Amino acid sequence: MKLSNYVSGRWTEGRGTGTALHDPVLGTEIARASTDGVDFAAALGHARGTGGPGLRALGYAERAALLTRIADVLSANRAAYFEIALVNSGSPESDASIDIDGAIFTLKYYARAGAALGGARYLKDGELVRLAKDEAFQSLHISQPLRGAAILINAFNFPAWGLWEKAAPALLSGVPVFAKPATATAWLTQRMVEDVVKAGVLPEGALSIVCGSAGDLLDHVTGADVVSFTGSAETALRIRGHAAVLRHSTRVNVEADSLNAALLGPEAKPGTPEFDLLVREVVREMTVKAGQKCTAIRRILVPAAQRSAVEEAIRAKLAKTVVGNPRNKDVRMGPLVSKAQQQAAAEGIAALKREASVVYDGGPDFKPLDADAAIAAFVPSTLLGCSDAPGARAVHDIEVFGPVATVVPYASAEQAFAIARLGQGSLVASVFSADAQFLAQAAVELAESHGRVLAVNAAIGSMHTGHGNVMPQCLHGGPGRAGGGEELGGLRALAFYHRRSAIQGPLDCLNTVAAQAVELRY
Ligand code: NAP
Repeated sequence: MKLSNYVSGRWTEGRGTGTALHDPVLGTEIARASTDGVDFAAALGHARGTGGPGLRALGYAERAALLTRIADVLSANRAAYFEIALVNSGSPESDASIDIDGAIFTLKYYARAGAALGGARYLKDGELVRLAKDEAFQSLHISQPLRGAAILINAFNFPAWGLWEKAAPALLSGVPVFAKPATATAWLTQRMVEDVVKAGVLPEGALSIVCGSAGDLLDHVTGADVVSFTGSAETALRIRGHAAVLRHSTRVNVEADSLNAALLGPEAKPGTPEFDLLVREVVREMTVKAGQKCTAIRRILVPAAQRSAVEEAIRAKLAKTVVGNPRNKDVRMGPLVSKAQQQAAAEGIAALKREASVVYDGGPDFKPLDADAAIAAFVPSTLLGCSDAPGARAVHDIEVFGPVATVVPYASAEQAFAIARLGQGSLVASVFSADAQFLAQAAVELAESHGRVLAVNAAIGSMHTGHGNVMPQCLHGGPGRAGGGEELGGLRALAFYHRRSAIQGPLDCLNTVAAQAVELRY
């Protein structure tokens, strides 16, 4: 089977043999993807020239209704998506749900938020501001939907949510979507787009997809387009530095690698709820999607006196996690997505081991349940311990994209904050403490270098949404090393797909402009 590309209003197969997609448990080939022969210039032109006007002919609330219909189509085909996630990503049902149900949840969230914006076609940003002594001459900032395409280049780990968490605010804004999923897991994204296209939900040209290499896609970007990229820092650098992107000042958003931290408060001891909550969260983050989450906990910052107790508690839970073929219902953790990722994880673990010792790695007899370890792409949960955190480099620099984390002892609260910052900007930090003052201090201290901070005590222990879960209401992104991007955050996400302009003019003109706009309330 070759995955079809949907461009310029037509389904077309790429030429040649393309790139193979594999089952990461069985090692079998399941599909091929090729963009060879795709006319990217024409495809982007169709999105801008047909999809854009079709979407912009509608108001925000009408486009929000389209998001509801997309969510309905995806819900109706949910079972097929779980099957694809099992075969192409080796996902147990609970992992697939995070991706697939997370996508549907995010679409429904933006459908609700967008419905409240009514029939307006553009946004008003703030009040009128007087520019002269006489009130007759004033200014008003408005934001218009971009007239280009939203080029969404995604990573392999979230083939469903990765598309729709970006497409929802783009479509709500009135900007057509041009999706380029990671080739290794493109099947699920492609099938979802196929279902939505077949259902005729969106105006023609509002949704395109290419499966396979990006080819010369970026050569054809304009200043009206946006590129929203999720993936590795190296690819991000290539995209940011692309000649056409630089020439046209094309807006780029980057979500990249991150050395996220979980921090146990100085007062927490074994037997306290906060200690247990941290242990539970670390194990969850290491094993869910086999640690292939950009937000997963990579560094566990603990008071030096509690290091061995924390290591032992996490080790005991990891040892009980059943790893293997997700077709067996006892399995809790599946494989990595490919042999290439397995190899990259092995190299990363080897580099970390030069600075950290092994607490748990499944042992010499590690064997995945119902799977051939030689063929499949499994990596056992690997917990490391680092004795010299301030002097370490790799621990704060190498993101092993798998079930791998390092316990890092700290001597004081100030040192803990400094160690967290050694990640050079991260997507998320979580703090577990019964000390209300420390919890608030840590949240404020870590906010500058983290896109999101989760503060946990016993009172919210059973209700918080999790360290790694990206909620559409809250900002997703992180400074520096994490890419410097911003996604979601409720209606804040619309800013990326709009262009702000200051209108200066007579009061009655500005009042007319303002009367047709809607102001975002967060
Ligand atoms: P990747 O190799 O950088 O690929 C990401 C995407 O970029 C893929 O669709 C890839 O296509 C495409 N691509 C590669 N070269 C390109 C080029 N020259 N021009 C345009 N597109 C190009 O990353 P990955 O291995 O899929 O993902 C793993 C990484 O993503 C991890 O480091 C993880 O931390 C990061 N990540 C971050 C977030 C976040 O939200 N911050 C979320 C998930 C993952 P092909 O697949 O066809 O090569």
